[in-house]
Amino acid sequence: MMTGDQYKASLDDGRHVYFEGSRIDDLPGHPILGVKVDSSAQGYDRFYKPEDGAVGDFMVVPRSAQDLRAQVELHETVDLLTHVTYASIMTLLTAADRIESELPENAARIRAYVEDVQRKDLRIVQCITDSKGDRSKKPGQQEDPDQYVHVVERRPDGIVIRGAKLHISAASASHELMTIPTKSMKPGEEDYAVACMVPVNSPGVKIVDTTYYPRHEDKRHYPISGSHHCPEGFVIFDNVFVPNERVFLDGQTKFAAVFAHSLGLWERLGGLSAMVADYDILVGFAQLIAEANGLERISHVREKISEMIINATLVRSSLEAAVENCHLTSDGVAFPNELYTNAGKYHGAATYSLMVRHLHDIGGGSIMTAPSVADLENEDVGYLIRKYMGTKQSVDGNYRTRLFHAIRDYTADSYGGWKAVTNIQAGGGLYAQRIVSRAHYDIDHAKKLALQIAHMDDYAETA
Ligand SMILES: Cc1cc2nc3c(=O)[nH]c(=O)nc-3n(C[C@H](O)[C@H](O)[C@H](O)COP(=O)(O)OP(=O)(O)OC[C@H]3O[C@@H](n4cnc5c(N)ncnc54)[C@H](O)[C@@H]3O)c2cc1C
Repeated sequence: MMTGDQYKASLDDGRHVYFEGSRIDDLPGHPILGVKVDSSAQGYDRFYKPEDGAVGDFMVVPRSAQDLRAQVELHETVDLLTHVTYASIMTLLTAADRIESELPENAARIRAYVEDVQRKDLRIVQCITDSKGDRSKKPGQQEDPDQYVHVVERRPDGIVIRGAKLHISAASASHELMTIPTKSMKPGEEDYAVACMVPVNSPGVKIVDTTYYPRHEDKRHYPISGSHHCPEGFVIFDNVFVPNERVFLDGQTKFAAVFAHSLGLWERLGGLSAMVADYDILVGFAQLIAEANGLERISHVREKISEMIINATLVRSSLEAAVENCHLTSDGVAFPNELYTNAGKYHGAATYSLMVRHLHDIGGGSIMTAPSVADLENEDVGYLIRKYMGTKQSVDGNYRTRLFHAIRDYTADSYGGWKAVTNIQAGGGLYAQRIVSRAHYDIDHAKKLALQIAHMDDYAETA
């Protein structure tokens, strides 16, 4: 396994990373992108074991609901790169299981790759979302055929791919790009039915990073986003060669969606478990600021917080149901229940803005306008700010001001905006979760119950 320092050194591999107009040669040393590298390096140190052949505990493949629950709880505490590596490994193993009967060689390749990557302790990110061009048109109908990643050349020893995958979390800090189709493909779209593993430093790979990381010098004004962030990569594959042993799908359109569906499941489980924590934090902020404002007993404030509590509890219940009702693959790997995962992720994403609305409604305008920590410390005005930001003997102005900073940072500033969009889009938009929920819901059972209560059981056979 690698230590944090070895991981940092491994990023000096000739990769092409760009940020705000410049190519970045020293990622760990970069004042903004280096913050992400540091948090990933801490992830390496946390799981490091010196023995030969050791594998990090975050990689443990769950074999029961109990294992799955333990992994979900562990992953609530790991950095994003460590988490997406695990979700990628689980995606690959789930996909291998699903293609095994018809493509046994491809499934064996996937399993060999997973063993290799675990042994080398590399980090993987998920490259699924294509640039997609005109959304009303299929990959093969685009004016520019490169709008979906596709094979442009087949050689005896591998393939050459071209295209771009957008919004790829932590791409520049990783080693491996798990490049898979974003949706199902039809006969005629064989070149687009491609799944493969691409090293980040492959010739032709270019990553352009963006981030919400605050640019203020005094990070105390950003108590949450000032200490961690995760850049998203605009990943370009400009004629990239991929050797055969790294190609898991090439042309078998029937299986193109298997990878996306497998990823969707693990990604949404990750999204759902992150939301469970988020929702409790939002309830916590709402109660704290209500108390600091002296409004915790006012009925409309209590009602809003009760509604927030109910939503937090429903999101937590969906996660619990997804884990408890997990399924086992043919080789005994536990994967979460599709219906509870997708319905829970949908509910969490759809109600997030309501949670934030209640918090903003309860909190008041100081969420946006509370003076900075440095102003609180200013000799001329600091004591006056503390006086007027205080509400009563037990609530000092310093405490209440810092609470407002945290709420702004978490929900109403650059990071808050990122969170609002990410909750909806990451793991696929709301529409994607509606489709999967519908596909796994037992609608025949619902119809039967409706006919029974209407005393129309005899129509059950035909309905
Ligand atoms: C912060 C962040 C991190 C992310 N991380 C990753 C990552 O690590 N890896 C990764 O692969 N992706 C990642 N994503 C991408 C995410 O999965 C996509 O944003 C999402 O799937 C939507 O795709 P899109 O952005 O291209 O939007 P669009 O596809 O343009 O969707 C916009 C809207 O149009 C609708 N729509 C689009 N096409 C059609 C159609 N043909 N018919 C009907 N309705 C349609 C959608 O349902 C949606 O409502 C991330 C996104 C964000 C915001």
